[in-house]
Amino acid sequence: MDLQEFRTKPTWDAYEQSLLKRDYVPYWDREVQANVSGIACCSCRKAPAYVGMTNGTTALGFLVCVPDCGEWLWFVARTASTRP
Ligand SMILES: [Zn+2]
Repeated sequence: MDLQEFRTKPTWDAYEQSLLKRDYVPYWDREVQANVSGIACCSCRKAPAYVGMTNGTTALGFLVCVPDCGEWLWFVARTASTRP
């Protein structure tokens, strides 16, 4: 992950497209979903949706708020597939 990418934060749609172009595919992890449930968006207090992305070696987790809000953040998703 290149921190430069976050100097100007893209929209979630644009970022999702850039991940898909870099061979990331959506995935869903029940354990991660359970860990992030109950988290509220820091700007609108709604519950953002959990989105997982993986390229087979790296799993990324995202919390994506409703389009009206547009807020999103990423976190390192610890899943069985990414443990050394
Ligand atoms: Zn929000």
